[in-house]
Amino acid sequence: MIRVGVAGAAGRMGVAVCDAVAAAEGMELAARADPVLGVELGSILGECDVVVDFTEPDVALTNARACLAAGVHVVIGTTGFDAGALEGVGGANVFIAPNFAIGAVLMMRFAAEAAAHMAAAEIIELHHDTKLDAPSGTAARTAELMAAASGRPAPVIHSVRLPGLVAHQEVILGDLGQTLTIRHDSMTRESFMPGVLLAARRVASLERSPMIGLEHLLFNG
Ligand code: NAP
Repeated sequence: MIRVGVAGAAGRMGVAVCDAVAAAEGMELAARADPVLGVELGSILGECDVVVDFTEPDVALTNARACLAAGVHVVIGTTGFDAGALEGVGGANVFIAPNFAIGAVLMMRFAAEAAAHMAAAEIIELHHDTKLDAPSGTAARTAELMAAASGRPAPVIHSVRLPGLVAHQEVILGDLGQTLTIRHDSMTRESFMPGVLLAARRVASLERSPMIGLEHLLFNG
């Protein structure tokens, strides 16, 4: 049994992760940390093999360092922080994904492939109006992958924040007399859960750390 703790357990994503872990085979929901619950992360680390973090951009890094210092593996879904700061930090493994939805991972892959063949592209990312960071981690990662694949500067990103949205992204590529649009929509937060559970199962045996991107667990490279 993998003992999983959830940081940000009272948040929108945290609640969904707690439900998914509690229902998953081979793991148990060992502990929940959140200021709303009056439980600090430091007090639950002794009960956990893995912590899943869906907190806030200025909290995720401190939480990850605390996990690693305690020898607890960490899966980070929080976006908008500098993941480079975890480079070379040992103690346990870190897995980070800007997006845990399989469709979003495929969107990023297809967008990178298309960027190598079409003249120009822009990204529109659309999220609920209480999202703290802009542009989204998914859009930033997509732009990075497209720049690497095309050898051109990263595409411009437009951010839309409106009530009613969950997490959506459109990559529009343009060329002579044509456009190509690649779009992904997360309708509910359940869309992220298979990816989160996969990462929680695999984080202890990563061949490098930090590992960034669900594609490394799904496509073997
Ligand atoms: P949210 O509802 O605001 O949840 C964040 C929770 O973390 C809040 O309950 C917050 O408590 C809590 N928190 C703050 N400081 C903490 C600490 N030191 N220790 C433990 N918990 C703490 O936000 P959300 O919509 O769930 O999103 C969370 C993050 O996940 C965002 O960065 C978002 O971009 C990201 N996200 C990632 C994916 C992905 O697939 N990777 C998908 C969706 C969202 P307070 O309210 O008291 O501050």
